[in-house]
Amino acid sequence: MEPLFFTVTDVKQMGYCPRIVYYQYCLPALNVAPTFHMQAGAQAGQKTEALEHRRSLRAYGLSEAGPHLPAREFDVWLESEHLRLRGRLDMLIVAGGELIPVDYKDSEDPMARGKRAGGRQAQHNWQLQLAAYALLLEATRGATISRGFIYYIPARRARPVALTPALKAEVRCLVDQMEDVAQREWMPAPTPHRERCRACEYRRFCNDV
Ligand code: SF4
Repeated sequence: MEPLFFTVTDVKQMGYCPRIVYYQYCLPALNVAPTFHMQAGAQAGQKTEALEHRRSLRAYGLSEAGPHLPAREFDVWLESEHLRLRGRLDMLIVAGGELIPVDYKDSEDPMARGKRAGGRQAQHNWQLQLAAYALLLEATRGATISRGFIYYIPARRARPVALTPALKAEVRCLVDQMEDVAQREWMPAPTPHRERCRACEYRRFCNDV
């Protein structure tokens, strides 16, 4: 039997609402079209990649002086049968012995407003997504990843994310839950954050929210 793989995007969706993963794996014939926002995000990501080739690494707090300049890899394909995960990372920075994953978001920088005005950390499922890339890098390149960045495209600003053991353990737990959902075909409870349902492309299939 072929091993069951999940994508890093599945981890992000699972962190947003587990029911989305149920629809995608157990009812794939629903064939929900990607929203305009998703398409725009993909295009913005490509544009950012082109710009990153010329952009300074100072946005990530890294020096470009000295004999060992940090290197960058784009669209890095990662896969681990052991983790049952695969995904394509937007950018990987290699600075000395450190590997730093970077994920682009076509979204407002949530910290830009400042703490007093309600500024906050990146949403939790984006942190999980970055932790999933970190696990894949650890499995395939033998490194320990302790931090990554989310790069907010409209603001052109990179924000650090601490990739803690707790966050990585949560990713492993979500992969186990996804396997359970996909193999037993059970529909998880809806997200308790019901405001998320308003913009969800699966809204018309959820009759209990
Ligand atoms: S409508 Fe709400 S409960 Fe249903 S899949 Fe979307 S986010 Fe989850």
